[in-house]
Amino acid sequence: ETVFVNGELMDRKEAKVDIEDRGYQFGDGIYEVVRVYGGKTFTMKEHMERFYQSAEKIKLHIPHEMDELTGLINRLIEANSIHDGIVYLQATRGVASRQHHFPASDVKGSVVAYTKEVPVPQSQMDQGVTVKLIEDVRWLRCDIKSLNLLGNLLAKEEAASEGHFEAILHRGDLVTEGSSSNAFMVKDGVVRTHPATNLILNGITRRVIRDVAGSEGIPFQEDAFTLDELLSADEVFIASTTSEVMPVVKIGERLVGEGHPGAVTRKLQGAFRKRIEQEAPV
Ligand code: PMP
Repeated sequence: ETVFVNGELMDRKEAKVDIEDRGYQFGDGIYEVVRVYGGKTFTMKEHMERFYQSAEKIKLHIPHEMDELTGLINRLIEANSIHDGIVYLQATRGVASRQHHFPASDVKGSVVAYTKEVPVPQSQMDQGVTVKLIEDVRWLRCDIKSLNLLGNLLAKEEAASEGHFEAILHRGDLVTEGSSSNAFMVKDGVVRTHPATNLILNGITRRVIRDVAGSEGIPFQEDAFTLDELLSADEVFIASTTSEVMPVVKIGERLVGEGHPGAVTRKLQGAFRKRIEQEAPV
């Protein structure tokens, strides 16, 4: 298995992390997960742009140009002959003696990437999944794809330990997003999701869904919804790079609609698949 570490492709066995890497000690860094379908990346440009935007938001300099990094990632996918999978890309503020403030400007950020085969979760996409509602206690910069994921992990673990696929988070009465996905509801044919503020990650999948909803003539509103609205929705789904458009058929013990994936969700799943085959920019 070939991995990418600080500008070089190497065998995974040769890859090392310093115990004073700030990503390891503080979660002082950012990441991306890019989908690979049939050996080709999907929405690579959008992920790379978000990667550099996250870096800028935490004042982290990525020591590679975007084109160079994109090329290296494509080489990595080829080296590992990835068919359907992901690329994990991460940057941290580098290695320095442990102290909270940033290291001197000559300390270069660490950038690593690796690939993994990941199948499309077809049976879950066909049948739908269940979720648990959990209070969103994360910080107020959820727009940054930060390595600090403890709030997300604790929510996912609580949901998963009770047999659920995902935790849907809410701040007080308003639904924000999933622990590793965006959340959507459908009422009277209209799709709604939280606006792209500091309270959610503006998912690339979310943007593709907004785009395909537009071409399918499905009304799409970026307008936060309440727990009551969620619980009385006709359809609910979540979306992410690895989950695509994932129907939610149960929230806790309560059925969503009749407890089956709904018509609008199915239509979006179909349109999303078509988009993968075309790979058009959003
Ligand atoms: N929100 C959170 C908190 C996430 O971790 C993810 C997955 N990266 C998403 C939303 C969905 O983003 P994307 O569609 O870009 O994978």
